[in-house]
Amino acid sequence: MLSLRGKVVIVTGGSRGIGATIAKELAKKGANVVINYNSSSDAAKAVVEDIESFGGSALACKADVASLEESKHLIEETKKQFGRIDILVNNAGITRDRSFKKLSEEEWYDVINVNLNSIYHTTSAVIHTMLEQKYGRIINISSIIGQAGAFGQTNYSASKAGMIGFTKSLALETAKSGITVNSICPGYIETEMSAAIPDNVLEQLISKIPMKRLGKTSEVAEAVLFLANSNYITGQCINVNGGVYM
Ligand code: NDP
Repeated sequence: MLSLRGKVVIVTGGSRGIGATIAKELAKKGANVVINYNSSSDAAKAVVEDIESFGGSALACKADVASLEESKHLIEETKKQFGRIDILVNNAGITRDRSFKKLSEEEWYDVINVNLNSIYHTTSAVIHTMLEQKYGRIINISSIIGQAGAFGQTNYSASKAGMIGFTKSLALETAKSGITVNSICPGYIETEMSAAIPDNVLEQLISKIPMKRLGKTSEVAEAVLFLANSNYITGQCINVNGGVYM
């Protein structure tokens, strides 16, 4: 029986989709969970209420993780409330899909800032706390697109591949200090992000998935829970993709 009783977790982008499910599943195992969000305050409050309804402990914290200052605020608020930080789940992410020849500078930088620069912001703000504790779990939600690429997603693919490289290098640097750093590469998961994919494109994508269905947010949360409880796994990337990329 996996338990996270007493552990303190931050889930960036915990207000909706995959992040909201991760937050609830970790809270069910006894963790105190900080639900970070940028604009969906009602959704973040609903996640907190849901967790409290089953006796769990949670706090919503607004911070744009594309900003170093706001990410520092997220870490400080968590320490103020719970005294420590055991697990950081870097989940916040956006897409701004367009073929490269039409991609604007803003669309490039928005995605790199929210998906990739964010993990520098949150991790740099938390790493010294974890080093002092001699304990930490950093779990980065990357994507199959960072491994395989996709038409119209140069910005997103670069950001997600960057997360994998970051994971491996930081894992090397922190392995002897009780900190593990891993990434998860979900395939196509049922959320608002995948709902934005046109129906005909989605049908084609599903036909190529060996399991012939989209993944569930709970199936990504299972991998997070597994990594949160693992001691000897670091620098790895776990694929949760129904077999579509091996
Ligand atoms: P959603 O669009 O459903 O949710 C995204 C979450 O990120 C929201 O909680 C949102 O909060 C938050 N967020 C966005 N920008 C910021 C920001 N600047 N600061 C803080 N929080 C922010 O996405 P998914 O649940 O589908 O995706 C979650 C992660 O999983 C992403 O990193 C995504 O790239 C990755 N992924 C998703 C796949 C899928 O098929 N859905 C497949 C592979 C990877 P708010 O509304 O408050 O801004």
